[in-house]
Amino acid sequence: MLKTKLKLILVSTPIGFLGSGKGGGVELTIISLIKGLLFLGHEIILIAPEGTKLPFDNEHLEIRLVEGIDQPSWQHQSKESPVSIPCNSVLPKSWEIAMELADRYDAIINFAYDWLPLWLTKIVDIKIFHLISMGAESLVMKEIISEVSQLMPFQIAFHSRRQSQDYLLNTDPIIVGNGFDNEDYFFNKNENGPLGWAGRIAPEKGLEDAVKVASYLGEKLLVWGLLENKEYASKIEKDFRQGIIEWKGFLPTDEFQKQLGRCRAFLNTPKWNEAYGNVIAEAMACGVPVIAYDLGGPGELIEDGINGFLVQPNDIEGMIKAIKSVSKIKRHNCRAWFEKKASNKVFAKRVESWIKKGLNKNLSGNLQD
Ligand code: UDP
Repeated sequence: MLKTKLKLILVSTPIGFLGSGKGGGVELTIISLIKGLLFLGHEIILIAPEGTKLPFDNEHLEIRLVEGIDQPSWQHQSKESPVSIPCNSVLPKSWEIAMELADRYDAIINFAYDWLPLWLTKIVDIKIFHLISMGAESLVMKEIISEVSQLMPFQIAFHSRRQSQDYLLNTDPIIVGNGFDNEDYFFNKNENGPLGWAGRIAPEKGLEDAVKVASYLGEKLLVWGLLENKEYASKIEKDFRQGIIEWKGFLPTDEFQKQLGRCRAFLNTPKWNEAYGNVIAEAMACGVPVIAYDLGGPGELIEDGINGFLVQPNDIEGMIKAIKSVSKIKRHNCRAWFEKKASNKVFAKRVESWIKKGLNKNLSGNLQD
């Protein structure tokens, strides 16, 4: 029989240390999940790039830091790009440590959207689970994720059903959603604030559409996020009237949520198959209604007319119309959705259930509530 408390190895993203912002949403996913899994009584060792610091410690948590060069991120390469591993790369070093430790642990959970750990899963007799953090941004990644999921469907999970549809799966995908610590986000009842947008400042996030909407309404747009692509940001600045964007920078969660909570509406305008959209759940945690393109994960988080509005991708007029109706959304509904679907406790339970079922080779489907 499977024991109730697990010993887990978590291998972090190899794109920047946790807290750098370079890894995008996966950074907060890992931190929140660790807290949730510790709460459930599991023991964890985290393998992560040097520089990583967690905002808490716990007697059942150990961190192994790994020095080395970041992996290039797949979303900024062409679809046909081959696998590349730089000299002195943090990725293989992290997996060497994981392999050495594996026989003392029940399972490994991988957060790297990268080829090596997926390929290893086919080769070694160790239970490696993968929480896939992106849609199919590269052909070689699509191929390996599809292959592993066909061989070991119980070892692969996705954040949303729409994200999973990018891959060639033979079975019903395991969907675990995502989760964030309730205690880190405060409900703000103010209904009259500005418009907000957050995300990495990069083309796949579609900031220009939100600026277009704010510009049409003659309003300011508050923008938070890591400046990943400077050329893209300057082009947006040039294309629109000065003073529309109020750049707020990349803030730690406590300050980010405080400022985010003052918004009357949060806009989400992705141009890719967004796997989940952390910032959507975070906005709702603060009570802020979200107006998003019905593309990828956002389409599964927003209950149209209840916690926000969904509009067709690239539909600027639809966004403008939705903003004009945003007062119809009760801010309490947004927080209630967050607590029910996206707290780190419910997320950790879904992940626990996935891992336990996977260790029992017992295939499951949607683990979302
Ligand atoms: N974020 C942050 N501070 C900021 C703006 C954003 O910490 O000032 C974080 C946010 O909490 C979220 C991540 O950036 O976890 C963006 O993740 P998302 O899933 O929205 O997009 P991704 O970057 O993964 O494509």
